[in-house]
Amino acid sequence: MQKWVYTFGGGTAEGHAGDRNLLGGKGANLAEMCKLGLPVPPGLTIITTACTHYYENSRTIPDSLKEEVRSGIRRMEEITGRTFGHNERPLLLSVRSGARASMPGMMDTVLNLGLNDETVQALGHDAGDARFAWDSYRRFIQMYGDVVMGLDHEVFEEILEDEKARLGHEQDTELSAVEWQHVIARYKQTIEEELGESFPQDPEVQLWGAIGAVFASWMNARAVTYRNLHNIPADWGTAVNVQAMVFGNLGNSSATGVAFTRNPSTGESALYGEFLVNAQGEDVVAGIRTPQNITEDARIASGSDKPSLEKLMPEAFAEFSEICARLEGHYRDMQDLEFTIERGKLWMLQTRSGKRTAKAALKIAVEMAEEGLISKEEAVARIDPASLDQLLHPTIDPRARRDVIGSGLPASPGAATGEIVFTSEEAVHAQDEGRKVILVRVETSPEDIHGMHAAEGILTTRGGMTSHAAVVARGMGTPCVSGAGTLRVDLRNELLIAQGVTLKKGDIITIDGSSGQVLKGAIPMLQPELSGDFGRIMEWADATRRMKVRTNAETPADARAARSFGAEGIGLCRTEHMFFEDGRINVMREMILAEDEAGRRTALAKLLPMQRSDFVELFEIMHGLPVTIRLLDPPLHEFLPKTDAEIEEVASILSFDPAELRQRVDALHEFNPMLGHRGCRLAISYPEIAEMQARAIFEAACLAAKSTGAAVVPEIMVPLVGLKAELDFVKERIEAVAREVIAEAGVSIEYLIGTMIELPRAALRAHVIAESAEFFSFGTNDLTQTTFGISRDDASAFLSTYLQKGIVERDPFVQLDFDGVGELIQIAAERGRRTRNNLKLGICGEHGGDPASIHFCEEAGLDYVSCSPFRVPIARLAAAQAAFVGRTSAGRSND
Ligand code: PEP
Ligand code: MG
Repeated sequence: MQKWVYTFGGGTAEGHAGDRNLLGGKGANLAEMCKLGLPVPPGLTIITTACTHYYENSRTIPDSLKEEVRSGIRRMEEITGRTFGHNERPLLLSVRSGARASMPGMMDTVLNLGLNDETVQALGHDAGDARFAWDSYRRFIQMYGDVVMGLDHEVFEEILEDEKARLGHEQDTELSAVEWQHVIARYKQTIEEELGESFPQDPEVQLWGAIGAVFASWMNARAVTYRNLHNIPADWGTAVNVQAMVFGNLGNSSATGVAFTRNPSTGESALYGEFLVNAQGEDVVAGIRTPQNITEDARIASGSDKPSLEKLMPEAFAEFSEICARLEGHYRDMQDLEFTIERGKLWMLQTRSGKRTAKAALKIAVEMAEEGLISKEEAVARIDPASLDQLLHPTIDPRARRDVIGSGLPASPGAATGEIVFTSEEAVHAQDEGRKVILVRVETSPEDIHGMHAAEGILTTRGGMTSHAAVVARGMGTPCVSGAGTLRVDLRNELLIAQGVTLKKGDIITIDGSSGQVLKGAIPMLQPELSGDFGRIMEWADATRRMKVRTNAETPADARAARSFGAEGIGLCRTEHMFFEDGRINVMREMILAEDEAGRRTALAKLLPMQRSDFVELFEIMHGLPVTIRLLDPPLHEFLPKTDAEIEEVASILSFDPAELRQRVDALHEFNPMLGHRGCRLAISYPEIAEMQARAIFEAACLAAKSTGAAVVPEIMVPLVGLKAELDFVKERIEAVAREVIAEAGVSIEYLIGTMIELPRAALRAHVIAESAEFFSFGTNDLTQTTFGISRDDASAFLSTYLQKGIVERDPFVQLDFDGVGELIQIAAERGRRTRNNLKLGICGEHGGDPASIHFCEEAGLDYVSCSPFRVPIARLAAAQAAFVGRTSAGRSND
């Protein structure tokens, strides 16, 4: 028979940490903590497949599940000595969602379930604290009314604010039992008025309402968006955890908090967290009261005058620290914990691997490897390559003048500058227009996810290090300052009011997510460096990986940046970019517009020294590392003027008749330029262009070899080859130039001639092409375009629809299409090497910097990947992880 429910508590559990797929992350870890003998309130987990079943059966709950939940609750009653729905010692429950991966946007929690007009009295009597009982009841109505019944929580907040104002109270904690009763009466009345139904009194009805709401929230718009963004399949479903309540709001010996076993922002190895006395969990996250530090060290560092948990409740603190150390050792990773202290007794409510900034991830991985908790390979495997992007962001130049207008918590590191916007919609709109913005909010909520994605940085005036804004921004790698309490947002008038200045929407500010400062205007930034923990991980990654990592670069600045990031050569130098520079473009145009070969050669002779000096500089920067230079690739009309005004201007510079120039421009027009007169076709029509480029390369190689003392072995790459005869034609010209330069210079020059694989025909005929090519570089931008028959320049218009409608799961121009384009790569690699077993293979399309595509390249046996300079560290790490996975899976298949 199908088992839907796993129980835990009382020192045992039916599940364990390995059951994550079935129990969800939260449920699996609650079970594990019970097994470890930690103090966990008893409970039960409804497994994820129950959620799937619910959707597959018209949103119904199977009878056997109801029966199992009842018996699970009976077990909780036995352990706690309380009874669910009973009027004497009522058992109250929390109901929480818990998918395999943590998912903001889903229904999170309903606390104090089981309270009604009668059990509330019993709870007050039992606790000897009526105020506590009524406070718990109003919290329950508020949460249940919002997440289960669908009445916006603002409605309840307004009533509460109104009552507080009427009674002259500032804090919620000042309300008496009787005053809470009055608030509750108004809550219930509003529910009836707004929803036309009354607040359910039957605990059983409450329970199934909450369980149904968790299942339903799996499909709400926010959860669906989150899943799409993070590639989480809809059929995973969510588990539901039903657990006996423990109370952090039972007076001043009670508290609730969240903590990390290491600092999630810096990675420092010290317990780090926040708590509130006499509060329930949501108070900490909501940021209504300012939380206190857990450790005394953190309190001193933050300058807070409120006592730490260490000082306030030393026994509970000591037990908690011990549990933290134990859980970190057990899971061999930094943990994110939730706890409650009920009248001095500590209870653990959650543990999971903690989200962390990239900086913290590096530090934690390095230190855990050094502590012997994990191996170096594991340390490398634990870093998400894409997250390194955060560290490659600029930081504020410490020498810059800072016009500080406020400060908050350093919630997510990195600095960002942009225009102030106050809503997520504006942030998205600005991004569409190419404007950079800082999203300024009082607090953020899951509705703001799209705006947070679009913004360069996030600033909130309320909320702690564990507020929604802080947690989500850290996950996204977006700089964030949270809880900047000295600033005030005036939404109505779209103003950000600081002491002494008022800024309006559109004004520029800078936030420093590493210090928490908010600054007026744009501030000079510093480029990042790879040192410290970053350097160690890179070192360990380099020791693990097989593939080389090169860069796509044509400017000296890019080449230098790439080398500082560890590039091992240039995998693609797009020579056409060198012709767009001022002072060159018109010589290029002169060449294109020349009447005949002689005219072209005259213009090319002017371009030769410019190209040569470019190449000398690149060779010198790369100092003996391989440099792959691609011959001219784009259609020639790309270099010509377009508008009438441009034509007039160019005509006058080149002494051309404007009408004739217009005619020449029109004559070069192509209906389908991407499949037109470009790539090696240019070199076949105008061999003199390729000859000039080859000469520039060889002469530069001689000069650079002399100036650097390092051997320079250029790799000359012929683009868009489909036929071996095309390559042979161009190769012959290059070789002839090589012979000439060698004769002139009196030195021998080593070089390679190869081709890009950008056309399906080239991939299929790789064994033939490899007779002439000494290397292949997969130009997967074009190969994706030509395999799909989708224009890379026009795709975004309809690919976004494809993504929305689920026709494709991912943009194939970002992540390799493993099945189609990937198979062509495999075929080309295998057939090419059949002909030439030392054929060098690389990739230089955008996919060369995408971690998942890099894994594919490892499996396909490529020698290197090449990507843009800022992706080089990401590619080094991804290549190491790919090699590691490859080794372990190869090990398995040998068994
Ligand atoms: C490619 O097609 O993948 C490539 C690297 O060349 P380009 O992007 O310049 O066409
Ligand atoms: Mg290309």
